Amino acid sequence: MKVILLGAPGAGKGTIAKLLTDYDGSVQISTGDILRAAVKAGTPVGKEAKAYMDAGGLVPDSLIMKIMEARLQEPDCQKGFILDGFPRTIPQAEDLKKLLTKLSITLDLVVNLDIPREVILDRLTTRRTCSNASCQEIYNIKSNPPKPDGTCKKCGSPTIQRDDETEVAILNRLETYNQKTAPLIGFYRKEGMLKDFSSLSSQETVEGIKKSLKK
Ligand code: ADP
Repeated sequence: MKVILLGAPGAGKGTIAKLLTDYDGSVQISTGDILRAAVKAGTPVGKEAKAYMDAGGLVPDSLIMKIMEARLQEPDCQKGFILDGFPRTIPQAEDLKKLLTKLSITLDLVVNLDIPREVILDRLTTRRTCSNASCQEIYNIKSNPPKPDGTCKKCGSPTIQRDDETEVAILNRLETYNQKTAPLIGFYRKEGMLKDFSSLSSQETVEGIKKSLKK
């Protein structure tokens, strides 16, 4: 499948992307994960991106497009991909359209995860992430806690609250989403690619996406 996941931070893009990769072997491409890895490794891209990310703002479109142009040409994308956290702005969506034409790639579907703001806020403040870069399992201290000592059930590394998961940064991310990313809903609706999903259950959403893809 070649799918874009749209939705506010905390809407469940990462969880749903992982479930979809298990389904048909398409690769999950998360620009957030790529950027966090670059920050951790201290690469030039990471150095440029860090300040924007910590403040909950967006990394410049040009930097993101450079990353994605290379990423979409990696061999593992041929089986299909799930874009999680990209595109994030109208210019990115327009550039992506040109890039896909250039690479002769056709998208199947744009998924809009439509989740109420109260749910989102609660999910983000209670989220914990495994600090091991090659694991990054996501937990929720209420509904899916890590081990009692705070370590990851999968790999045993400590789980942490991300730098951009402080209350101020979260409100900033939601504001950035409403201003910069929400307009993509209209963009893809016009293109006839968009489908809305509003279930709070990731499983149920994944079943819905699979059905839409078969049509
Ligand atoms: P979120 O949980 O907010 O969806 P992500 O893991 O997708 O978080 O992204 C974390 C941060 O990385 C964002 O707040 C932003 O600074 C940066 N980022 C990720 N993807 C993009 C993108 N496509 N364009 C601009 N900035 C991005």
